[in-house]
Amino acid sequence: MPDRLVLLGSKGGPALRPGGPWPSSSLLEIGGRAIVVDCGLGVTRGLVDAGVSLKVLDLIFITHLHSDHVLELGPLIHTAWTAGLATPVTVFGPPGVGHYWRRFCQAMEFDIEIRIADEGRPDIRELVSVDEFGQGHVAEQRGLTVTALRVDHPPVTDCFALRFEHGGKSVVFSADTAFFPPLAHFAEGADILVHEAMLEEGIERLVARTGNGARLREHLLSSHSFAEEAGRIARDAGIKRLVLNHLIPADDAEIGELDWIAAVRKTWAGDLTIARDGLVVELSGANAASGEGTA
Ligand SMILES: [Zn+2]
Ligand SMILES: [Zn+2]
Repeated sequence: MPDRLVLLGSKGGPALRPGGPWPSSSLLEIGGRAIVVDCGLGVTRGLVDAGVSLKVLDLIFITHLHSDHVLELGPLIHTAWTAGLATPVTVFGPPGVGHYWRRFCQAMEFDIEIRIADEGRPDIRELVSVDEFGQGHVAEQRGLTVTALRVDHPPVTDCFALRFEHGGKSVVFSADTAFFPPLAHFAEGADILVHEAMLEEGIERLVARTGNGARLREHLLSSHSFAEEAGRIARDAGIKRLVLNHLIPADDAEIGELDWIAAVRKTWAGDLTIARDGLVVELSGANAASGEGTA
């Protein structure tokens, strides 16, 4: 299996609009492992559409507990279980992810008990282990190394960028963060940096459309990065390819890929991909990438 990154859900925030993109989730296939990063609504459908067998679900990482990153974690694992999952799954997430998982299983107790008794399935609660992590070393498994950096996403304090390394390849996810210079050191030399981004000209229209104006604007400006700022991190980190993801706004008819590219080009001249749901970025070959979202 060639190493690849698939952007399953590319929008920032939990809202859905007709025909629009889905909240945050990604698939990273590296060194023979299929790794899910964040579980926003739509992650299960996105994985199936990307050709992943849910039966072999293995490693899941959650960057923080905002719903657009965690809402479908339980339903993903549960759907994999009903699809025949019989091997262990490990969920790595910030403190509190274990609470989410236990309460999800409680909420689904009727269905879980009845499928164990009626269909002879293994106990889903025994298949899943939860590993709550903080900043620093997260995991070391069969040549895969994962590290975390606490980023700046107030009022959420446990929000972590993640760095995945295997066989000399590295992919870094910024998670949700305001412009955060230490991220450049954390992402140093990575093959791919997946960085969140918002576009200034779209924020006012988004705020007007959403209806809780001032508070939303305040949250966006203090907790997220502009595309130009993502470009600065990429430049300072000396990465090979920048992927703009968690786009805000992601579904404004007046904002297209060229607007995102123009914003990033103020600070980053290197390889660039603007995320779209289902877009594949190849990791084999230092700077290969596929899809129309590449520029
Ligand atoms: Zn988010
Ligand atoms: Zn968030």
